[in-house]
Amino acid sequence: MQFGIQLCSIAILCTILLSYFQNKKIPLMSTRLFTIFLFLAVFNIVTEVGTLYTIYHIESIAPWQNRLCHQLFLGSLNFIVVFLYLYIDMKSRLQKRYTASQLLIRLLPVMLTMFAVVFGRLYYYVGDDGRYSYGPMVLALYISIAIYIGMTLIELLKPQSTFSKYEKQNLLFGLGVWAIIAIVQFIHPALLMSSLGVSLMVLFVYISFENPREYIDHQIEDTMSDYAFKEVINEFIQSKKTFYIVNMILTDAQLIKDTQGYQDMMMALTYMSQYLSFNTHETVYYSQVDTMSVIITNQEDYEKFLYKKKPYYIKPEMNGLQFIPKTFISCIQCPQYASSTEEVFKLLEFLLNERKKYDNENIFVVDDDTIKEKNKIEIIERILRKAIIEDGFDVVYQPIYDTNKQSFTSAEALVRLKDKETIGFISPEIFIPLAEKRGMIRELGQIVFEKVCQFVSERKIEEYGVEYIEVNLSALQSVDEHLPDILDNIMKKYHIAPSFINLEITETAAVESGENLYKNMEKLRHMGCKFSMDDFGTGYSNFAQLAETHFELIKLDKSLIWPCFEENPRKPQHVLNGCIDMIHQLGIGIVAEGVETQEQVSYLQNQGVEHLQGYYYSRPIPANDYELFLKNAQNNE
Ligand code: C2E
Ligand code: CA
Ligand code: CA
Repeated sequence: MQFGIQLCSIAILCTILLSYFQNKKIPLMSTRLFTIFLFLAVFNIVTEVGTLYTIYHIESIAPWQNRLCHQLFLGSLNFIVVFLYLYIDMKSRLQKRYTASQLLIRLLPVMLTMFAVVFGRLYYYVGDDGRYSYGPMVLALYISIAIYIGMTLIELLKPQSTFSKYEKQNLLFGLGVWAIIAIVQFIHPALLMSSLGVSLMVLFVYISFENPREYIDHQIEDTMSDYAFKEVINEFIQSKKTFYIVNMILTDAQLIKDTQGYQDMMMALTYMSQYLSFNTHETVYYSQVDTMSVIITNQEDYEKFLYKKKPYYIKPEMNGLQFIPKTFISCIQCPQYASSTEEVFKLLEFLLNERKKYDNENIFVVDDDTIKEKNKIEIIERILRKAIIEDGFDVVYQPIYDTNKQSFTSAEALVRLKDKETIGFISPEIFIPLAEKRGMIRELGQIVFEKVCQFVSERKIEEYGVEYIEVNLSALQSVDEHLPDILDNIMKKYHIAPSFINLEITETAAVESGENLYKNMEKLRHMGCKFSMDDFGTGYSNFAQLAETHFELIKLDKSLIWPCFEENPRKPQHVLNGCIDMIHQLGIGIVAEGVETQEQVSYLQNQGVEHLQGYYYSRPIPANDYELFLKNAQNNE
């Protein structure tokens, strides 16, 4: 009688136990199943030693004792496989709990086997070459084990399974080793190698799935990984209780990485982790590249965190940082505002994209309005994508009045979405920035430009005294190195003289874009295009640069004009008159935007402004109406 294999197996299990209980675990249902699996394995090997003992002392031991020992051994062996299956299944269903009937179906094979284990017959072979047990009880066990292994394989290999290649390989390898041991055992029943199979299987599951180190983030101390974050969210969503996710975003992570280096970014994140841990006493997760998160289950704790109003600015000296990182904290109540991991991440992405709109000093709490806004933006994004493929844009024209020639010598082309049914009218002030963020602005700009050229070539508007059309260029478009060629091709296609096109670039884009913009402007100007600086007065004007870059026109924003006609108009009038004088001295023409009243017209005309644009003359109107407008204006002259 030898216990070598069993001792070896126990040693393996003890090593796993030690490592498993030393590390911090996350509270998942699958983790609980694994713990049971682990203890069943220990119990099984102990009972195996028991059966070995009784079978070698079969003559001196009561038959019922021998039988009981075998029953405990065979029963626990079967339950090991059952729990292995339940464990894999629970992970694969993302911690979704079983209904009573689902559980019953899963336990049916083992219940039938238990019947055989309790009442089945068992024989003992006692020979010179070894001693072992066999008979219907053992056979039933083999069948049951095969069924559960089969079910485990299905969960693991089904096409929609969520396991990684690495996890699949490890578990398949473990099962393979187990199968080989089972076959050897079947051929040589006296070898008694079951315990080795069990302990190796536990080892493989531990390495590939349950190793707590998988859940620990290795970059930031005392922080759990994004993988752990996902798993825990799944778990809480399954438990159907309300919980709160607090996210702290490092707002300029990329910038810090680029200017201060990776080390400093990680240091800022470490401080954020400490801050969250200190203020919530919860586990901190490194949930995204620039985000630290905690999950709070207790409402009172959550409210305490929200209303305690601790100062949470980062003290640079704490981590030896040379700068003060800005952060943005948001809270999501789950499952009310996000009922799956994907939704949580989508919401975080939305907050990341939109965070500039939120106040950095306060905690932002996601509410019904946030969700509405997020849904609305998703709908607009869909409308935009569709509009780009299915010709869903219109261009409208707003006539511009020339005060010297006293006629409408130009117009600004403005884009509109045709779709007004889905969620009503959507302003370009909303969809243009979105198109920029989602990488659609180049295509959109091209579509608008082509529509303008087509319109100009078909309607021959130069015959009504129109000298040029102003087309808006987004900042991203204006630095695109292919822009001159793209515009050139379209103008050639419709035989449009480049001098008939005036490109509007906003003041902010002109100041921020640098080299690429100037190269593009030079090429386009060389072709004959003209340029306007749009929205003058809304950015931080760089007057030195203004003198350098040559714009034909500057468009004064309404915010410079309107205050001159409200209460206390003296100061704004000084500013406006000063701007007008300065621009004229630089030899640049002026367009005043947002002209709505006769009073404004007279004033601006007196100041010598050459072009006026606004509702006073006309709103932006569809191409046909614009043509009519030009016809009428010509007749009235
Ligand atoms: P913007 O370039 O400053 O265009 C002028 C905006 O002022 C237009 O708004 C126009 O309808 C509005 N407006 C004109 N006169 C008056 C007035 O007397 N009173 C008032 N209250 N508003 C007036 P719209 O069409 O909603 O466009 C908004 C912005 O969207 C534009 O501002 C421009 O930045 C952008 N945009 C519009 N079309 C395009 C386009 O084709 N490409 C690009 N990149 N941006 C565009
Ligand atoms: Ca404009
Ligand atoms: Ca403007």
